[in-house]
Amino acid sequence: MSEEYLQREYLTLEELKEVTPLPSEKRLRGKHPVAVPECPQRIPCTPCKEICPVDAIKMDNPNDIPVVNYEKCIGCSLCVQICPGLAFFMIHYRDNKARVTMPHELLPLPKRGDEVILLNRKGEEIGEGKVVLVIPREKSVGDTPVITVEMPLELAWEARSIKVKEAIE
Ligand code: SF4
Ligand code: SF4
Repeated sequence: MSEEYLQREYLTLEELKEVTPLPSEKRLRGKHPVAVPECPQRIPCTPCKEICPVDAIKMDNPNDIPVVNYEKCIGCSLCVQICPGLAFFMIHYRDNKARVTMPHELLPLPKRGDEVILLNRKGEEIGEGKVVLVIPREKSVGDTPVITVEMPLELAWEARSIKVKEAIE
């Protein structure tokens, strides 16, 4: 894959597909969310692999790109909480909605039930979603707060951060 993304500072969805295979629709509609790494750089970093309780993250050496065995993943979100690069997400399809679990380091931390603005990988506003779960910093294994946002299904592979509505009104 070209390294243009380094200047741009975000991956496109097409580039992500070159970095790692995506879960099947069947797995995305499974009982648990599934974790997907958006981590294209070969850097010595392994906390995601080390914390996974079911050994679902494969990295033969510390410089490898993490690859998740989607059938093994139980959707615990520990990799999202611990990744220092904020590069892990979880996705879960539920009927015509999707729930995306993402790191959220900016303040304010939204509350469960808050309506929020969805941003794509480029930081552009693409729609609205609702926060359904919040893991605050003090409960996160990696000190990174994590939120789960319910959104229209078609935004599941585009929305990767949020803006709290009150913060911009
Ligand atoms: S969500 Fe949990 S089970 Fe799935 S890859 Fe991450 S740490 Fe492993
Ligand atoms: S912890 Fe994050 S940055 Fe480090 S290898 Fe895993 S996904 Fe990549």
